[in-house]
Amino acid sequence: MFGLIGHLTNLEQAQAVARDLGYAGLADQDLEFWCSAPPQTVDNITVTSVTGQTIEGRYVESCFLPEMLANRRIKAATRKIVNAMAHAQKIGLDITALGGFSSIVFENFNLNQIQRIRNITLDFKRFTTGNTHTAYIICRQVEQAAPKLGIELSKATVAVVGATGDIGSAVCRWLNTQTDVADMILVARDRARLQALQEELGRGKVMGLEDAMPQADIVVWVASLPKGIDIDAESLKKPCLMIDGGYPKNLDSKVNYPGVYVLKGGIVEHSLDIDWRIMRLVNMDVPTRQMFACFAESMLLEFEKWYTNFSWGRNQISVEKMQAIGDVSIKHGFKPLLSVVEN
Ligand code: NDP
Repeated sequence: MFGLIGHLTNLEQAQAVARDLGYAGLADQDLEFWCSAPPQTVDNITVTSVTGQTIEGRYVESCFLPEMLANRRIKAATRKIVNAMAHAQKIGLDITALGGFSSIVFENFNLNQIQRIRNITLDFKRFTTGNTHTAYIICRQVEQAAPKLGIELSKATVAVVGATGDIGSAVCRWLNTQTDVADMILVARDRARLQALQEELGRGKVMGLEDAMPQADIVVWVASLPKGIDIDAESLKKPCLMIDGGYPKNLDSKVNYPGVYVLKGGIVEHSLDIDWRIMRLVNMDVPTRQMFACFAESMLLEFEKWYTNFSWGRNQISVEKMQAIGDVSIKHGFKPLLSVVEN
């Protein structure tokens, strides 16, 4: 059985979801309450592959909220993640994806040192970050959506915001070797890590966000921002394709400008309906079929019985592993989301 460990994007959304699920008492609770709430199994899932194979899974809500990081409630944040992992293991999940910020909190606060949670010894082989599949799907979105907008990759500059991250560095590796992208711009804060990536790739310009934006035909957003930011759409090239893979989204509000196209990054669509309710709660456009690519990774590992932490650690995602998970993604009927929104 597979598992998904997820979280909501902010307190307001958490309150709305609690109301929606019929927990009226939780709908008025503040951040303090969510800091002490235990993990919950909130959905039972059945997924059928286009091969005919059917698998079962569970969605575990960790009760983590990105505001815990913004408010320096680090201990609460880390407890949410390890408690959710212990819960997943206790209910017998064989392979579980650490969605969104779960793996970021795990890595940034070295939670691999906390293996014992009450009477459970965490077996890290039962967890995957899902980042290999996410990076693969974002790259396919670049390759497939750009030509539809008249952007030729061989003439295009792609800026990757969050380039030195786990997903961002994998996206850069793929674009560098598997496509004929003309130029790459690498954006993040830590200069030393940017230079190391530039050396590894053998190309790519290191730039700040404001300088990078006017030069990019395509922007891949994969920075770990607890809250989205606003950009100056007027300064962008037209057309410009923005692929926002952040969760929460990197872009705060809708970019309302002709010629600027926004695509939800790292989202896959399954070919068959899925019996679950969780994607309705996180406002997916087609909640019976669309989901985060990291969640789909744990489904793929379950379909293939690859019971191992396929994506683990930081900045170790190879193009070969992206291709391997991409092949089984196609085999089981998942496709990258390609419906671009022009505002
Ligand atoms: P990492 O922590 O590995 O990387 C984050 C990157 O963002 C780093 O390059 C970091 O570099 C950069 N960054 C952080 N803050 C800023 C800033 N203020 N300005 C510019 N760059 C910044 O994260 P992941 O790669 O694991 O995840 C990235 C995003 O993808 C997250 O929002 C996550 O929730 C989302 N995600 C989406 C999934 C999906 O299925 N769609 C699945 C998993 C994750 P530096 O610190 O040097 O600035």
